[in-house]
Amino acid sequence: MKDVFLKRKILTQPGELRRHYDVVIIGGGSHGLSTAYYLATHHGIDNVAILEQSYIGSGAAGRNTTIIRANYRTPEGAAFYKESVELYKQLSQDLNFNLMFSQHGHFTLAHSDRSLVVQQERAEVNKLLGIDSYVIDARQVKELCPQINISREGVTWPILGALYHPPGGIIRHDAVVWGYAKQVCRAGVEIHQGTEVTGFDVANGRVHGVRTNRGDVSAGVVVSATAGWSSIVAKLAGVPLPITGSILQAFVTEPVKPFLDKIIVSAQMHIYVSQTDRGEFLIGAEVEPYPTYSNKGTFPFIEYASRHVLELLPQLHATKILRHWTGLCDMSPDYSPIMGLTELEGFLVDCGWGTYGFKAAPIVGVTLSELIAKGKTPALIEPFKLERFYTDTLVSELAAAAVSH
Ligand SMILES: Cc1cc2nc3c(=O)[nH]c(=O)nc-3n(C[C@H](O)[C@H](O)[C@H](O)COP(=O)(O)OP(=O)(O)OC[C@H]3O[C@@H](n4cnc5c(N)ncnc54)[C@H](O)[C@@H]3O)c2cc1C
Repeated sequence: MKDVFLKRKILTQPGELRRHYDVVIIGGGSHGLSTAYYLATHHGIDNVAILEQSYIGSGAAGRNTTIIRANYRTPEGAAFYKESVELYKQLSQDLNFNLMFSQHGHFTLAHSDRSLVVQQERAEVNKLLGIDSYVIDARQVKELCPQINISREGVTWPILGALYHPPGGIIRHDAVVWGYAKQVCRAGVEIHQGTEVTGFDVANGRVHGVRTNRGDVSAGVVVSATAGWSSIVAKLAGVPLPITGSILQAFVTEPVKPFLDKIIVSAQMHIYVSQTDRGEFLIGAEVEPYPTYSNKGTFPFIEYASRHVLELLPQLHATKILRHWTGLCDMSPDYSPIMGLTELEGFLVDCGWGTYGFKAAPIVGVTLSELIAKGKTPALIEPFKLERFYTDTLVSELAAAAVSH
């Protein structure tokens, strides 16, 4: 009963917005909530406000396709996401909230010799870091996933093999949002929905607070965890970001009986597919190749994604599409995140999450909260500094992040 009231409080009573907080977090998505959670629980910093222009989980946190994995291409990326998967494993217990997490395995299909070489490179990087991931041939793909069509006849891109990642899995996205929200409220953090940051109070190279549609708030530290809106928000603070905004689309089919427990990704076909616990087939693609903030879905996406999925799973030919949506993605030039300090003292960013940031939510919270509490960038996120675009030290994750989410 107490939980019901807590939920209502989050939903309907933003409460008074105080004039000062030690830390203001802009954005009530999975990253903003997770950062607040670890600030309060790991570091005892609870004079924190999360300012969310809409409702928590209204952004990409509530729109993503819930894939969790660690099999990235760069050592920096793979080590970072590995820690996140480990945190996700115990998160239901930590948050005392059923997040419906399962790890059934993840295929990145290869349809060419070149792609097999890239998957092998990823497998080697993963092996060195203790991440369970290896290359298999088409016959082994079929053994692990009997439902998939590995025929070489009548298909555009026959399957030659795959990178197989057994720990790859899915987790309920809105449960992650609600689980974190419940615990941050318990810890004394304030969540203010319907509170849009419209400007910053900046003087002498330092941020002193934010301006909102509900008045001004001063703060020692301001974190922007605004994903698809990152470049707009950072611009208000006078900090330019190398980010472009694009939309990513996805759809689900009507629910059918369970027959697929693996996640299947094909970068060549620009699609990925999994089956949810409710029986729906969840199908997504690559970001649309044009920058936009329009949240309108497109018919060509549904058409090509359906055509390609039917080559992999012809059994779905009579299944109806139930729902189709889009979300904003903040794309960085090297497909790696941008995290931490900026040239504006006291202003931290957490962005560049593109199509793959949901799986990072726990480790983002752990590392950013440590940076705020101790004033030192943790080694795990050192490579992802904004500074890398000025020092030519990019972390190109294109081979493993483009479609694979
Ligand atoms: C269709 C789709 C599928 C995806 N699939 C996957 C996947 O399978 N696996 C994966 O790891 N990732 C996936 N992603 C990416 C992932 O969802 C995002 O990278 C991640 O959710 C971003 O972090 P977040 O949850 O904090 O962002 P969001 O939930 O977008 O949070 C940002 C918040 O900031 C708020 N905000 C913005 N501007 C302001 C302002 N001025 N004032 C106050 N608040 C503001 C927004 O309203 C929003 O709620 C997918 C994304 C999409 C769109």
